[in-house]
Amino acid sequence: MSSISQVRSFATVEEVIEDLKPGYPVYCLRPDEIKRQARYFLDTFPGRVMYAVKCNPHLTVLKALYDAGIRHFDTASLAEIALVREHLPQADCYFMHPVKSRASILTAHEVYKVGHFVIDHEKELDKIIDQTGGGNGMVVLVRIVTPVHDAQYQLSDKFGISAEAAPELLRKVHDADFQTGVAFHVGSQCRTPQAFVDGVNTALDVIDAADVPVHYLDVGGGFPALYQDDQPPPLAAYFDAIYAAFDQSRLRRDCVLMCEPGRALVASGCSLLTQIQLRKDNQLYINDGIYQSLSETLLGKMKLPARLVNPARKFADEYQDFTIYGPTCDNLDILPEPFHLPVDAEEGDWIEIGQTGAYSNSAATRFNGFFPETFVSVDAPPLLPQ
Ligand SMILES: *Cc1c(COP(=O)(O)O)cnc(C)c1O
Repeated sequence: MSSISQVRSFATVEEVIEDLKPGYPVYCLRPDEIKRQARYFLDTFPGRVMYAVKCNPHLTVLKALYDAGIRHFDTASLAEIALVREHLPQADCYFMHPVKSRASILTAHEVYKVGHFVIDHEKELDKIIDQTGGGNGMVVLVRIVTPVHDAQYQLSDKFGISAEAAPELLRKVHDADFQTGVAFHVGSQCRTPQAFVDGVNTALDVIDAADVPVHYLDVGGGFPALYQDDQPPPLAAYFDAIYAAFDQSRLRRDCVLMCEPGRALVASGCSLLTQIQLRKDNQLYINDGIYQSLSETLLGKMKLPARLVNPARKFADEYQDFTIYGPTCDNLDILPEPFHLPVDAEEGDWIEIGQTGAYSNSAATRFNGFFPETFVSVDAPPLLPQ
């Protein structure tokens, strides 16, 4: 754990501004908030909790999760596996990408001792057998397609074997002497617990049809975070629904229930501090946008909470809507939803944008030379949606 790099720590976002006067975007991490969310999942989800590293792989985030007790990490590439295993040597990685290069299967298995792999096609199973020799107590999970519900992103568009074809693949996994599992992902920012119930029930049908022992049931990620005008049911409603469906099945006794949250664990654990570079009437040009930390405002239509900050002056009491322009030269780089801010917002003021812990820094590109890379930690509570 000693190799974890430290970020500078501040009491408040105002202190960050007074000290750095940043003309560049700053990710203000909230390790205490991340730990709180992690403990909630660990205490309340009725099974094993993995963290989906792609959501936010910053070391401060990984360390906060680890300190709170998360020991299992859902990784999709060799780089993510190396990151986790080298900085958190006691943690386990699960290789949860259904399509892997042969070299990464071999290296994950031999160098990093990864013992869990996911597949959604027979040819991927053959690759794993070729590269690892098969058996040896390793676990292969079959990712299935589940019924579509209200989620912001539909991941079954891309991955998963149909419930009809899955039993045969599961039998092949068993015949190759692996431990078996079934996995699914209902889609990210899923707004209905019933999606998970349908997922569990589909998995149970597949398992019954396969008629082989199954050791793992992985209900994936997709648990929602809170955004503006988007207040899904509480996480407990999801956990209760999943457990009720699982508990009724014959699997209950000898099968490990798992989940792989990303967004719900870390969205509230970071805010993004941006600065206004120019104001034209009701248009504000800021230094972060669609190609950096804010792609989800466009791709996922996420509405983020925002507040104007400048410790050096007082703002007007009156508010208005501002259209927010990102820093790149592309006309796509305009946030679809306005921010509601004091009418006297001006060049040099800062805008703190909340709920940016998920898919922000991890999705940022270097397009046009704008790449946020400053991280600090802040003790103050997170900036949440109203
Ligand atoms: C992205 C992803 C997750 C995390 O999804 P969230 O919606 O962020 O919870 C979990 N599992 C897999 C396989 C994923 O691809």
